[in-house]
Amino acid sequence: MAVPKTYHLVTLGCPKNDVDSEHLERLLTGGELLPVLQPGDADAIIVNTCGFIEQSQEQSMEAVRTLAAAKREGQTLIVAGCMTQLYGRQVKEESPAVDHVFGVGQWQDVARLLSVDVDAIFDIPESNAKVSGPSAYLKISDGCDAPCTFCVIPKIKGRLRSAPAGMLVKEAQRLVAAGAKELVLVAQDSTAWGEDLGLPVASGLSGLLEMLSEAVGEEVWLRLMYAYPSRVSSKLIETMAQLPNVVHYLDVPLQHGSEATLRRMKRPHNVAKVHAFIAELRAAMPDIVLRTSFIAGFPGETEAEFKELLDFARTVNFDHAGCFTYSLQQWTGAFEMADQVADEVKHERRDRFMRQQQKIAAKRARRFVGKTLPMLVEGLGEDEDGNPVVAGRTYREAPEVDGLVFATGTAQPGSRILVRIDEAADYDLFGTVLSS
Ligand code: SF4
Repeated sequence: MAVPKTYHLVTLGCPKNDVDSEHLERLLTGGELLPVLQPGDADAIIVNTCGFIEQSQEQSMEAVRTLAAAKREGQTLIVAGCMTQLYGRQVKEESPAVDHVFGVGQWQDVARLLSVDVDAIFDIPESNAKVSGPSAYLKISDGCDAPCTFCVIPKIKGRLRSAPAGMLVKEAQRLVAAGAKELVLVAQDSTAWGEDLGLPVASGLSGLLEMLSEAVGEEVWLRLMYAYPSRVSSKLIETMAQLPNVVHYLDVPLQHGSEATLRRMKRPHNVAKVHAFIAELRAAMPDIVLRTSFIAGFPGETEAEFKELLDFARTVNFDHAGCFTYSLQQWTGAFEMADQVADEVKHERRDRFMRQQQKIAAKRARRFVGKTLPMLVEGLGEDEDGNPVVAGRTYREAPEVDGLVFATGTAQPGSRILVRIDEAADYDLFGTVLSS
């Protein structure tokens, strides 16, 4: 292979994969390779795949097929990440045009293959993050020790590995210096942070939030994603309520609302405990916004169990809730379970859940009408009459997964402004720019 000068990187999957790709890009550009927008212009094409569920594996495979079909003489095609961790051999067999396959966490090997002298690049932390618009992801740990029977992540990513606090503080400061006004903390399970470093469950993440809050200053928002329900402790709730820049928003994937289903999923929490910590969160932060996600059609899920999930979601009134159909995964506890639910039943239940959630989300969104809120500006546009409109996010919306706020007026992309909310739709809010 001739020494490559340019690369094109395709990233699939979740924000944690975005962070990994950012790490790889910093190695490649540190080695003086240039990124190019079109795969046809690149000496090396790299695909960072997702292997979370069947659908994401298929999307990753489709991207590989497309790039393999268009590959020209002299180009190198590299496929890496979660899907190849599980199915590397099959990817090579299906697409012989793929030159090299790597699993997860092998970014230095990818860079070395492309002739980057990795050891000479001293300024690359092991974990780092992405600045996109006003927000940046900060990956605080990787891997997971939980036994959830539907999830292949521990098989792909391995055991929990927390990034040291000092390194995260340095990285947070770097991102803020680069313009980030919000740091979104991501991990497979953010509330497990520090357990592998010997820190107690209750104080690990709380302590990290305190350090980050002080390091970045009150003006920079800290947002917590992927909390594990049984680890949402009183200490964490107290810390979130006290620190001025931790936004009153929590993403806590609950997966189900039926005790029987949760037990088959090997989730350690029970429904009563979830109600208790949600009540505690709402008492400590009455304006808190809650996001969750559920799985419909887990093996053995009866209509009665699914109705328990509907009742549970209706009782809690989540601001944002997603529902995925269960996806059969090799190497998981649920793979061999009897009573797999038929696809049409899974989809019908998912659709029924989303119809209910749409009404709940609309009702929750209406409580913001009349409020004045700080908003981070994502982009600019026009309404149908040609008036300028600013699109952005308040504390209510996490990047990429929740709705947006559209406010009449102008502002600088990336800036923080004040908006008044005038109207609420099912998922988005509409308002007016008050100050920019
Ligand atoms: S906690 Fe999350 S990442 Fe870990 S096994 Fe369960 S679902 Fe998977």
